[in-house]
Amino acid sequence: MEHTKSQAAFEEARQYIPGGVNSPVRSFRSVGGVPPFISGGKGSKIYDIDGNEYIDYVMSYGPLLMGHVPDCVTDAIKAAAEKGTSYGAPTVAETELAKLICYLVPSMDMVRMVNSGTEATMSALRLARAYTGRDCIIKFIGCYHGHHDSLLVKAGSGGATFGVPDSPGVPKAVAATTITVPFNDLPALEKVFAERGEEIACVIMEPTPGNMGLVLPHEGFLEGVRAITKKYGALLICDEVMSGFRSAQGGSQSLYDIDPDITCLGKVIGGGLPVAAYGGKREIMQMVSPAGPMYQAGTLSGNPLAMAAGIAALTYMEQNDVCNRAESLCAILTGGLEKAAAKAGVPVQIHRLGSMFTVFFNNKPVTDFDSAAASDLEAFKIYFHSMLEQGIYLPPSQFETNFVSVAHNPEDLQKTIDAAEIAFAEVAKA
Ligand code: PMP
Repeated sequence: MEHTKSQAAFEEARQYIPGGVNSPVRSFRSVGGVPPFISGGKGSKIYDIDGNEYIDYVMSYGPLLMGHVPDCVTDAIKAAAEKGTSYGAPTVAETELAKLICYLVPSMDMVRMVNSGTEATMSALRLARAYTGRDCIIKFIGCYHGHHDSLLVKAGSGGATFGVPDSPGVPKAVAATTITVPFNDLPALEKVFAERGEEIACVIMEPTPGNMGLVLPHEGFLEGVRAITKKYGALLICDEVMSGFRSAQGGSQSLYDIDPDITCLGKVIGGGLPVAAYGGKREIMQMVSPAGPMYQAGTLSGNPLAMAAGIAALTYMEQNDVCNRAESLCAILTGGLEKAAAKAGVPVQIHRLGSMFTVFFNNKPVTDFDSAAASDLEAFKIYFHSMLEQGIYLPPSQFETNFVSVAHNPEDLQKTIDAAEIAFAEVAKA
């Protein structure tokens, strides 16, 4: 495969943009090599500026449940753009998307739109602190909730990839209000609450973490977190920015029957445009300005193009059984990958939930950040580059989740499984 144009583009980008990218994981730093610069996409495929075609399992890190450039979303964006790109005044589209979200995620009575998942979790924490009058928060090690100060502590995703879980620039005093606990460890959570329960405003969790690779909760873990938070008067924030409409149509909270106080959404709800949201119980949301005293605002929040894209995406999704269809495709793929790895004799742990999956190069169960981090990163690199050269575009880190869309057809899946057979054989040889 030819990559000379991407190479030149990457060199130029690095002159003007730190590391040449606008979000660290895109740089391929943990796997080495040059990231293909993308010229466009359609359905399950993306194309780079050297003319290479790839079957895409990044799907913009989750949003593109219907693949690239689905007509329903593109048409809605075009129609909205003809009328105006931003007003700074209310539109009925904002209520329409809020209503759709509340219908699809029944734990949410009210919603506030923001522009990124980071903003959603940042605002949700402020709200939990405002509501409880407490300062401390608990997060699970390896869960990523965005890059603001309170949550850039023992985060996964890019932080895990780069081995810098705590960033310079995060004030010690802020980090000190964030308490971290291993995922799937209820006794550790209970102990923290027993010692400091009166200081703790909330637990924020990815119910099915996707930012240390996809890790699943042990039976009873999520219910336990809900029970402990209730017992100590702390709020439970489900960060479903990634898992929303991916693990299931109602998110992981519907799968595991959890009723959180606040939910954060993003990715899929914007149909590929920058939208996220936080919402939850009416009594809590009534604290948000201007209904209440907790301040949070945004010049472009509820942007008309983004609302149009989100309404189109969620409506199409709901009417066309998209989540279940994507899940079935994902299950076919992971079944094939499991067989391919076994054939090559490569020990892997393949986790799947809905239309998300991760192949861990690990011979032991992966249940939390430490066990995920014990994966064979050299094996992952070989697999990753072999797949890329065969036209399969995967997230460039062991600690990310792969995404299947309904635009992936059986032929794409078979091609991917065939490529994986070769990639696993290369891993076995190394
Ligand atoms: N929460 C979760 C669970 C996420 O996966 C992400 C991003 N991958 C975020 C929050 C942050 O979202 P954004 O990148 O839009 O700020």
